[in-house]
Amino acid sequence: AKGRGRNTYQWYTDELNRRVTERVNLRHALAQAIEQEQFELHYQPQIDSVSGRVVGVEALLRWQHPQQGNIPPIDFIGLSEETGQIIPISDWVLRRACLDAVALNRGEHAPLTMAVNVSPMQVQRPGFVASIERVLAETGLSAELLEIEITEGVLMDSTEHAIDAIEGLRALGVNIALDDFGTGFSSLSYLKRLPIQKLKIDRSFIRDVTCDENDAAIVEGVITLAEKLGLTVLIEGVETREQFLYLRERHPTYLQGYYFARPIPLDALIDYLDRFDQH
Ligand code: C2E
Ligand code: CA
Ligand code: CA
Ligand code: CA
Repeated sequence: AKGRGRNTYQWYTDELNRRVTERVNLRHALAQAIEQEQFELHYQPQIDSVSGRVVGVEALLRWQHPQQGNIPPIDFIGLSEETGQIIPISDWVLRRACLDAVALNRGEHAPLTMAVNVSPMQVQRPGFVASIERVLAETGLSAELLEIEITEGVLMDSTEHAIDAIEGLRALGVNIALDDFGTGFSSLSYLKRLPIQKLKIDRSFIRDVTCDENDAAIVEGVITLAEKLGLTVLIEGVETREQFLYLRERHPTYLQGYYFARPIPLDALIDYLDRFDQH
C-alpha cells in the first residue's frame, strides 16, 4: 500500500508537470505566433435561403504553426483567454477581417456582411467599443457591414458592463448576432435585454432536423419566436442537401454550413463567389 500511494502521488505530479509544461509551451508558441503573424482568417459564406445569394461571411481564426501545422481555435482560444493573449490576437482578427471586408465589398458581390467572433474577455475590457470604432475608421468599413458574434458567455460575468458595451456597438451601427443559440442557459431572458439583430441557431439542432421531431420543433419554435421579436435567424451546420432542401422549404432564413462551403481563405472565397453567382 505504501508503494502504491507513492506511485499514485508520483503519477499526479508527473501529470501535473506535463500539463503545466504543455501550457507554458503553448503560451510561448502563441507569443511567437502573435509576433510573427502566424494567424490567418478563413471565411465561411452565409446564404439567404430565399434569394439563394451569399449575403455575408463569418471570419474564423486559423493558426498555421511552423512545425505543427494548422491548430484549430478550440485548442488555443481558451488558454489565450486565460493568459490575456486573446487581446492582441483579437485586435489582429478584427483589423484583418475589416480590411478583407472592404476589399470584398469593392467587387461585384457587394454588399457582403463580415461576422467576427468576440470573446467575453474582449467585451469586458474597457475601451472595447472605442477600439472597434477606431478599426472601422481606419479601415473604412461601414459599420452596418460589420456583425459582432457574441455568446451567452459574454453576459455571464459582468452583465452590466457587457450590456453597455453591446449597446455602444449598436450605437455605432454595428449589428450583433447571438451565437450558438439554444446551447446555454436562460437564453430567452437575453433576447429581451439586448439590442441584438440576429440569432444563430446552433448546429446541434440541425444534425437530425430532417428526422428528429423534437429538433424540428425546436428549430421551428425558435424561428417563430425570433420573427415575433423582429430578429433575423441564421441556421448553422447545414451539411447535407437534404437538410438544405428541408430548411429552405419551411423557413425563410440565412444558412451556413459545409454543404455550401467550409471556411476558406480569401482567394478561395472570391473564386467561390464568382462561381456561386453563375448558378
Ligand atoms: P463558432 O463561432 O460556433 O464557429 C462555427 C464553427 O463550426 C467553426 O469551427 C466552423 O468551421 C464550424 N462549422 C461550420 N459549418 C459547419 C458544418 O456544417 N458542420 C460542422 N460540423 N461544423 C461546421 P472552427 O473554425 O473550428 O471554430 C470553432 C470556434 O472557435 C468558433 O465556434 C468560435 O467559438 C471560436 N473562434 C473561431 N475564430 C475565432 C475568433 O476569431 N475569435 C474568437 N474569440 N473565437 C473564435
Ligand atoms: Ca460564430
Ligand atoms: Ca456558432
Ligand atoms: Ca461555438
